[in-house]
Amino acid sequence: MTANYFKTYPDKDGFYKEYGGAFIPPVLEKEMKKIADAYFTISKSHNFITELRSIRKHYQGRPTPVYYCNRLSEKYQGRIYLKREDLNHSGAHKLNHCMGEALLAKYLGKKKLIAETGAGQHGVALATAAAYFGLECEIHMGEVDIKKEHPNVVRMKILGATVVPVSHGLKTLKEAVDSAFQAYLQDSENSIYCIGSVVGPHPFPMMVRDFQRVVGIEAREQFLDMTGELPDSVVACVGGGSNAMGIFSAFLDDEECNLYGIEPLGRSQKIGDHAATMTYGKPGTIHGFKCYLLQDEKGDPAPVYSVASGLDYPGVGPEHSMLRDLKRVNYDVISDEECIDAFYELSRLEGIIPALESAHAVAYALKLAQKNPQKSILVNLSGRGDKDLDFVVDNYGLPK
Ligand SMILES: *Cc1c(COP(=O)(O)O)cnc(C)c1O
Repeated sequence: MTANYFKTYPDKDGFYKEYGGAFIPPVLEKEMKKIADAYFTISKSHNFITELRSIRKHYQGRPTPVYYCNRLSEKYQGRIYLKREDLNHSGAHKLNHCMGEALLAKYLGKKKLIAETGAGQHGVALATAAAYFGLECEIHMGEVDIKKEHPNVVRMKILGATVVPVSHGLKTLKEAVDSAFQAYLQDSENSIYCIGSVVGPHPFPMMVRDFQRVVGIEAREQFLDMTGELPDSVVACVGGGSNAMGIFSAFLDDEECNLYGIEPLGRSQKIGDHAATMTYGKPGTIHGFKCYLLQDEKGDPAPVYSVASGLDYPGVGPEHSMLRDLKRVNYDVISDEECIDAFYELSRLEGIIPALESAHAVAYALKLAQKNPQKSILVNLSGRGDKDLDFVVDNYGLPK
């Protein structure tokens, strides 16, 4: 890594080495270029930076703490620390980039935020940001997901968003993406499309990373203050990869820090049973960008599964794809079962109920701790588990 890392990646066309870019129809390409140009100017302006800082502090409740897990560390022999993104307003890291995207919309004079959502977490975070800024919010969601994720649908509506049901095809995330892009193209004058992770066409992987960098900047400083040293390892779960990029970005130059991105192994190694893109995928194109991709024989995105619905995406951010090839980040997997065990361990030993997504990172930290006694591990606890309680108890029961 070089000191110029953030100037080098992405390049002006949105590439991280061979990954990323914008493989989209010409009309959309024009719109993305407009957003990229505006972002470069606005994000450097004093007013934008000052307003975003104030929002982080007074509305989101940042900085979120770094916490040393006493009981967990004692039991597993390592030194385990959590960056508490579960304490960020609305209960996860997603608000970090949604507030940034909505603030950009405001500076661009847009009236409406448009997005798709799968499990509903991105929809809820964006609806929160829209309420704060007094913007309209239109969330496209497959009818299958609307049934499955009822509480999040209700949340979005309470927050004032319109939920547009998508009834074609498999009626899930992929169709919701198409529908949201369609709606955006019909009204790109007044609206802006807000992507929910470090994925999609340029400039989104870059913008979302930049808005999430606050997590890493805070965590590195807090960790140094607490311990006088850098962590031996930093661990984060990877769906699209936004919470992981956020925390990793501050440690890329610290070669002594081992970085671990954790993907879901789900039920098994069979295609359709997991979403372990880095382990089982190969380079391909999805949603307008190039990345590691889980593919069927025809090269189309493969079906994916995880107990954590925020992690079941067949692609992954282009920057992660590059960091894998550069071997700067290690990517590994955690199964549903290991995730559920970690969910209960953290709850019982520390009084912190993690999101099932975040529990993948916790599970990996427990393995690392047992293998490397006394070494320090910083985990990005991307969200809280309230949304998962009914699901876990219904499917796995309470522990003995
Ligand atoms: C959405 C979500 C994730 C996965 O998204 P990334 O972009 O990979 O960070 C992880 N944790 C929580 C709590 C989420 O809501």
